[in-house]
Order: sequence, then structure tokens, then C-alpha cells
Amino acid sequence: MLRKFRIGVLAGVATVALASGPTALAAPAPAPEAAAPTTLHYDASQAPGWEDAVAAGVEQWNSNVDNVELVPAESGADAEITIVATDGWPQATLGPVQPGGSGTVELGEEAVTEGHDKTRIAAHEIGHNLGLPDTKPGPCTQLMSGASAGTDCKNATPDEAEQSEVEGYYGSAAARTPFDGRVLVDAS
Ligand SMILES: [Zn+2]
Repeated sequence: MLRKFRIGVLAGVATVALASGPTALAAPAPAPEAAAPTTLHYDASQAPGWEDAVAAGVEQWNSNVDNVELVPAESGADAEITIVATDGWPQATLGPVQPGGSGTVELGEEAVTEGHDKTRIAAHEIGHNLGLPDTKPGPCTQLMSGASAGTDCKNATPDEAEQSEVEGYYGSAAARTPFDGRVLVDAS
């Protein structure tokens, strides 16, 4: 009785194993359109006093583009985007930064002293890391017009052209734009 039972179990296992092979091979590959967004980690631990501006600037990008998502790096873990506070002018590496890559954002107090909005500064500099150059001089509606839009400009939302440019740098079907690596200084 016991022996017959064990044979039955083994036969059952063999049948399941045979059935799972072809089924697994036949599973369709996920469509490229369904790919998850590119995740970039940022470390703003060296930007004291900019916490709110960084969070708001990051939120602008995360809520307005689909193909890349900015998430805080775990404490002590590697981050593709390093955000630091300085006494000078804001500046940033021109990306597009890719996973495993390295870009730096310097949030410079000099621009704040001149009267520029901290969230717009943070969003603008992160925009450089995401591959956007400056569009100066430009209107306040453009994030990358930066300081040229004047100190009254508090817009931190990338316009549609800026959003679609970033979508193109990170879209699954995009021809990857090589990382630029130049440092763009936003002195005004
Ligand atoms: Zn700039």
C-alpha cells in the first residue's frame, strides 16, 4: 500500500515537471512598452537646508515624466545622483545619468542670496542630470531657462518639451543618448 502510494507521487511529480518545461518556454516576453521606468537613486544627505526643495524638485520630475523615477538612496548605498549644498553658484553634471552612472548636483547658496527660488533651483539642476541643457534666456514656463527668467519666477515644473525630451532619454525604445558629463554652472 505504502509503496504504491510513493510510486504514484513520483509519477505525479514527473508529470508536473514535464508539463512545466514547454509552458515556461512558451511564455511571451514582456512587451517593451511594459518595461519599468529607469530608477535613479539620489543622495541629498550633504545638502542640509535644501530638504524641502529637493523633495519638491524630485516630485516635479516623478509626477511629470514616466520613463525615469528618482528614489532616495538607502543610507550609505551608492547613488547615481549626489546632491550637495555649496556657498557658490548652483551647478550640475549634464547627463543623461544612467543606472550605475554618476552625476552631481550642487545647490549653491549664491543663487538663493540673489533671490532665486530654491525648489526651482533644485528641479533645474536635477534636470541637467536628466540630460537637459540650459535654455537661457527663456521664459519662466521653461524650467531650464533658470535664472534668466528672473527672481520672481518660481516655476519648478518642466514644460511639455522638457518633459518629452527626458522621456526620450529614458524610454525603452529610445536610442540611448551618451552621457555628456560636462559641468554646467548656473551663475547669473
Ligand atoms: Zn542650468
